[in-house]
Amino acid sequence: MGTMKTITVMGATGSIGQSTLALVRQFPESFSIHALVAGSDAEGLAALTAEFRPKIIGLGDATKLDHLHEALDGIEVDIVGGEVACSKIAAMPVDIVVAGIVGIAGLPSVLAAVQAGQTIALANKEALVSAGGLVMAEAERCGAHILPVDSEHNAVFQCWQGWKGHGGRQVAQADTAALSHICLTASGGPFLETPLDHLANMTPQQAVRHPNWAMGQKISVDSATMMNKGLEVIEAYWLFDLRPDQIEVLIHPQQAVHGMVYFRDGSVVAQLAGPDMRTPISYALAWPDRLHWASARLDLAAMDQLTFASVDTRRFPGFALARQALCDGGAAPAILNAANEVAVAAFLQEKIGFTQIPAIIETVLGQSITLPIDHLDAVMAIDADARRVAAEAVTKNRRYLSL
Ligand code: NAD
Ligand code: MG
Repeated sequence: MGTMKTITVMGATGSIGQSTLALVRQFPESFSIHALVAGSDAEGLAALTAEFRPKIIGLGDATKLDHLHEALDGIEVDIVGGEVACSKIAAMPVDIVVAGIVGIAGLPSVLAAVQAGQTIALANKEALVSAGGLVMAEAERCGAHILPVDSEHNAVFQCWQGWKGHGGRQVAQADTAALSHICLTASGGPFLETPLDHLANMTPQQAVRHPNWAMGQKISVDSATMMNKGLEVIEAYWLFDLRPDQIEVLIHPQQAVHGMVYFRDGSVVAQLAGPDMRTPISYALAWPDRLHWASARLDLAAMDQLTFASVDTRRFPGFALARQALCDGGAAPAILNAANEVAVAAFLQEKIGFTQIPAIIETVLGQSITLPIDHLDAVMAIDADARRVAAEAVTKNRRYLSL
């Protein structure tokens, strides 16, 4: 690769952040770290600061700043604390902002980066689920580029070079008319074969044990409920400007194929790769080039067979709720996302059972306030109200559980 790119990593201590930094570590001549941001892991952020020597670092949880100063042990770096300050970091001009914060907590910084006209390697799907219309409209207005990092969307991006999000710098000209539909694959998660009447008893430990990927806790539970794929359908809707019925999902447990584009001439172009997030991240970091790193070779002959099946919504009711929220539009996806975050956190804390996650989301979808999503404050108000209703639903369910 030619020139050195400067990078800001939002969510540096997480799974996406670590995979990004593993690539930066391998290519010191291609990338330099401008800024690192984390939520509350002061020690983790201090260790990364010592290694990558960013100019500025941010910690979302300002109450841990003393901790951070102590852990930095005299390393010279500008430090900010709190959500607003972290969003300001995302707006500082760099070549690429990696959006790797988990949940709606990532939305303010994604929007700040978009409004600053940055190029964003987007992993934080919840930002698009909750405020996709706003984020994409602002991206167009401010000349920001959003490069998808989520593996399925990155696959579609690779198969269909030239989708409109590339703006003036696309590899090929966008030709949406040539495209019939896209397919996102899903592993089916750890409970794909579990008898339906056992699902209610599945524990957080079982839910986060994903068969193919090592990821953060929240996305691992989302994969077990398949809400992750529901969120990804909404993410794809905004990224690629398609109709909901043009976004197909197939269960593909071997996870070799990540995404496919069906063209109207009968051709289907698929992207295949091993289950390593460094592949889509490196594509976004180096785009429009490719990084040459020693990724493990995908051994198709050793895989025996590749299978594809449609989604059973009795097993994965959360997936159906997400599709419905997309069709309902308006505030529904933001409410769905907030309710899911609260329900997943409650499940991880063993306050509710596994099958109560979609049940709570359904309750919240019918009871929360809706507002037009034209401003960050409106999204945050919808999110806050949905969280309040979801927390009440968790308390009720908890009482029911202990009877
Ligand atoms: P994770 O839990 O491992 O990491 C989350 C990161 O966000 C941490 O660095 C944490 O400190 C930071 N963070 C949390 N709250 C914050 C706040 N309020 N302010 C600042 N930083 C905050 O999560 P992950 O698995 O890396 O996922 C990150 C995002 O990427 C999610 O949206 C997820 O859906 C998406 N994603 C992840 C993977 C994967 O393989 N892990 C794959 C595709 C998409
Ligand atoms: Mg994905």
